[in-house]
Parts: sequence; C-alpha cells; structure tokens
Amino acid sequence: MVESTLRVRDWCDQTIARMFSEGEVAAIVMAKRWMKQLQAPENQARALALMALCHYRAGDERQAEQELQAAQLYLAEVRGEERLAAELLLRHVEAQGLRRAGRLEAAQQLLSSLHAQRARRNRCEAYLSAAALATVYSMSKNDVKALDHFYQALDLARETGLAPVLVNALNNLGSFESDLLNLEDGARHLHECLNKALRLGSRRQIIFAAGNLVPCLCQMGCADRALEVARLHLMNRISDDLPPSLQRQEEIAMALLESGHVDEAAAVLRGEPSIDPMSNEKLTLRTSLWARILLAQGQVQEALDLCLRRQRELEGEPVADTLPVERVNLLRVAAQAATRYGDSALGYRLLEKAFAKHEQLLGVAAKSRQMSLRFAHRMREAERERDLAKKTADQVQQLNELLKSRVMETARLQKLLQAQALEDPLTHLGNRRQLIEAGSALLTLAIRNHEVLSVAVIDLDHFKEVNDLHGHEAGDKVLRAFGDLARRTMRAEDLVCRYGGEEFVLLLPKAHAAQAVERVAQLLQAFMSLHFEDGASARFACSFSAGVADSETAGDSLDLLLSRADSALYGAKAAGRSRVYVWSCED
Ligand code: GH3
Ligand code: MG
Ligand code: MG
Repeated sequence: MVESTLRVRDWCDQTIARMFSEGEVAAIVMAKRWMKQLQAPENQARALALMALCHYRAGDERQAEQELQAAQLYLAEVRGEERLAAELLLRHVEAQGLRRAGRLEAAQQLLSSLHAQRARRNRCEAYLSAAALATVYSMSKNDVKALDHFYQALDLARETGLAPVLVNALNNLGSFESDLLNLEDGARHLHECLNKALRLGSRRQIIFAAGNLVPCLCQMGCADRALEVARLHLMNRISDDLPPSLQRQEEIAMALLESGHVDEAAAVLRGEPSIDPMSNEKLTLRTSLWARILLAQGQVQEALDLCLRRQRELEGEPVADTLPVERVNLLRVAAQAATRYGDSALGYRLLEKAFAKHEQLLGVAAKSRQMSLRFAHRMREAERERDLAKKTADQVQQLNELLKSRVMETARLQKLLQAQALEDPLTHLGNRRQLIEAGSALLTLAIRNHEVLSVAVIDLDHFKEVNDLHGHEAGDKVLRAFGDLARRTMRAEDLVCRYGGEEFVLLLPKAHAAQAVERVAQLLQAFMSLHFEDGASARFACSFSAGVADSETAGDSLDLLLSRADSALYGAKAAGRSRVYVWSCED
C-alpha cells in the first residue's frame, strides 16, 4: 500500500515537472502512458485530472472539462487514504477551470481552501495550488496577497526538489515583482530562474525566463544586457519552424529598440507569430513599441495618432489586461510624439499624467520591495527552522541508534554473563547451578506430565592417578573430551552438567532407569574407547562409574534422586568401577 502510494506521488510529480519543462503536450503524452500502465482507479483519476490541467493551460476548455468529468467517475471508485489526496488534485484542476472561465472569486475560494491543507498534501500539488492562488490574487489586483503567495509557492517549490517546478516558481515571482516595478528583486529572481533553466536545459523554460528578464532589464536601463539576453536566449533559440509568439516578439523588439536597432525591431514585430496559448498579446506594449519605431523613422504624426487611439481605448476599458507600467510607457511615448509634433501643451499634459501614474507605481514598487524583503525573510526563517528540525531529527535518530546499539550490547553481555553463570568454563557443559535450575524444571515438568525422568551421576575412575601420572593438563583434556562426547551422544532434551571436579550428572527425561542404564553404558563404552596422549607421548584411556535412579522408583525431588543415584554410584565404585548401577530400595 505504502509502496503503491509512493509510486503514485512519484509519477504525478514527474508529469507536473514535465508540464513545466517540456510543455502541456509532452505532459499529456506522459499522463496517457501512466494511465495505460497503472490501472488502479486512483491512477486513472489522477492521470485524467493532470491531462485536464494541461488542457486548461493550453486553452482547450472543452477537452479539459470532459477529462475532469471522467476523472470524477474514477474517483468514486477510490477508497482509503488515496481518496482524499486524489480528490484534492481534482479540486485544484476544477479551480483552474473556474479561473479560465473568469470566475476569479470562486477560484480564489477553492484554491484558498486547498492551500490551507498544504501541510498534508504532496509538495508538488501543494505548489500548484499556491501558485494558482497567487495568480488569481494578482489577476484581482491584490498585489500584497499575490506576492505573499508567490513567495509561499517558491518555498513549496524548493521543497519538491524538482528543478522545473522551482524554475516555474522563480519565473512567476520574478515577473510579478518586475511588473510591480520592484526591479531589484525581480531581476534577481529572474536571473536565478534563467540560470537554473539553462542548467536544466529546458528550452521552453529558458525562453520564458529570458522573456521576462528582458523588460525588467530594459526598465532598469540595462539596454546592453537586455539585448544580450534577447539575442542569446530568445532569438537564438527561436527557429523558422517555431517563430516567436506574440509576447516573445514584443520582448525581443523591446530589447532591440532599447539599443537603437529600429529596423530589426520593426521586422520582428511584423513577423508571423506562432500560436502559444500561454502567451498573450500585450496591445498597449505593442502600441508603444510601434510608436517608438515610427518616431525613430520620423513618422511623428502616425506615432502620435497610434498612441492617442490606444490611450482612448484604455480609458474606456476599466479592467484592461494592461500593466500600470505599460500605461506609463504609452503616456511617455505619446508625450514625446506630441512634443515633436509641436503640440507642447498636449505633450506636457501627457507627461504630467505619466508622472502621476509613475509616482503611483513607485509607491506600489516601494511597498512591493518592502513586502519582498519581509516574505524573503520569512522564507529564510522557515528554511532555517526546517534545517534545524531536520538536524534535530537527525541527532535524535543518531541518539536512538546509539541507544539501540547500547541496549543490544547490554543484552548481549547480560546473556553472556547469564550463560557464563550457568556454564562450566572448562567443558562448556552446564554447571551445578544450571543443574539445579534446569534440572528442577525438567523434573517438575515430568511429574506434571506423569512422565518418568532418570538421573545419572558419573564419576571418572582413578582420576587422581590420571593427574598424577599424566599431568593436570592431560586431566583437563580428558574432562573436555568427556564433555564433548556426552554432548554429542545425548539427546537434545537431555541435560548434561559438570557437577564438580570429575563428577557429572545426566538428566534423561522420559527414560526409565533401565533405559538410562543402557544409554549411560553406551556412553561408557564410547568413553573407554577414547585414547589420550600426555605431554610425554604416553597413551592412556579412562573409564567412569555411574549410578542411576529414576523418578518412578527413587523419589520426586531432585535432591533425593541425586543422592540415590550417588549411592548407586558408590556401589559401582565398590564393585570395581567402570560400570553403571541402578539404585534399588534395598540399597
Ligand atoms: P575414584 O575412582 O575413587 O573416583 O578416584 P579418584 O582419584 O577419581 O577420586 P578422588 O576424589 O580421590 O580424586 C579426584 C581428583 O580429580 C582429584 C583432583 O585433582 C582431580 N580434579 C578435580 N577437578 C579437576 C580439574 O578441573 N582438572 C584436573 N586435571 N583434575 C581435577
Ligand atoms: Mg570424585
Ligand atoms: Mg573419581
């Protein structure tokens, strides 16, 4: 479930990034491919929603609406956690439809509610909503809110870690700042945007960034740099089969005009533009550009007529899609034309209007600069907090890991100590303590299950002599050999312990005394067939004596069984050693 969720988020992010870097058509192709590959209803709903988003952006509302409806049908089949996430994506696309239809208020409401849920949304999709909300605010002339949300979008874009998304965010923010005449911040963001787009190699995003940077640089009076950007990143990248769109034409012409290349600018504006729904003609800007060309060519009256006609149109259009800065420029060119025409009074009036508007614009610019500083500061703070939180989380994780390894180490040591406490170091058999603990448990279990258990006490014969004749080392070797042999030959459920010195105890569950005798006798045979060698190469063998008692005949306490087996052992020793005796009540 988690894996498939990750995968969904992953391919959606890729598709959105593709939409920014390579355009809507490429993103639609990608979404269609995912739709074929990933059959689950949430994938179908998401792919259709992304396709609808692309179609809205490309201006194909009808197609977009159909896809959105189809997406809704799939969404009805989606259950669980994925449902809400997919639903939010669909609602975002719906908001795009509202915006395209000019229903700005409804779009704003929907996007605001989506933006409020950004914390639990996938970063890329949260970015889409923040950026769309900023655009809606800018369209409804709420500059401060627009700026605020373009900054928030930039923050979210950084979090996605996807370069095309970040480039898109920088482009939106930079061009908006530049429109507000906050040229310092605008140029900075657009430069960063252009550099990132160049590194990414996305032709489309390079053109957008350069196209926005050119008017910004022209406004700043950097004509040379504007022309350089236009030539390098706009004109060079635009080929015959893909001429500049209307907006790009205007940007190129502006850069050319600013450096005095009048004829070239005129040729660009006269060219047949390519259709790009993302770029719209800026009539006021185009008029100013043409008027400047006419003025440069000495056609003063035509220039003046052109400007005044557009000026009258603008006065009749309350919410024209003309930027304030474009209005100022038009008035300036008009004033210049009027003065050159000889109508200084008109020239003066127009210039006065231009100044008044410019003044207003400077107020907006100053405010925008101030806001940009504030939002940039807030963003840096957020970033720092995120870094800090991450660092703290890393440290906590490190500490946790350290703690875990310590706990594991301690547990290991404890186990070792416990084992050591129960183990005889020479033979690695259980020691007397283990015999008492595990032996009692085995006996209790046997009694509870009405089963028999035998105890055998084994004592190596003449062991003092072995030590005396062959040395203590050789004696140790014999003890170890006995331990290995006993471990190998006894059953898993049997318990073999070193009781002390050269004495051992065996516990044999589910064995009567007779069976135990048989098995201990086999062990004796095996032990006697072992041959040892001492440091002086003398070979020798050993034997043991054993006494056996079982719980059915000899008693139901471990002490009693041990003492009775011990007395049987005493009998075996007395009878000549190297034999196994059973305790009987006559003993
Ligand atoms: P018996 O057949 O009557 O049992 O004679 P024994 O010599 O085996 O009996 P005794 O109790 O006289 O001697 C036990 C010897 O076992 C004495 C002691 O030195 C030796 N011994 C006890 N523990 C160890 C040990 O860990 N290593 C060695 N090499 N010898 C040990
Ligand atoms: Mg002994
Ligand atoms: Mg002995």
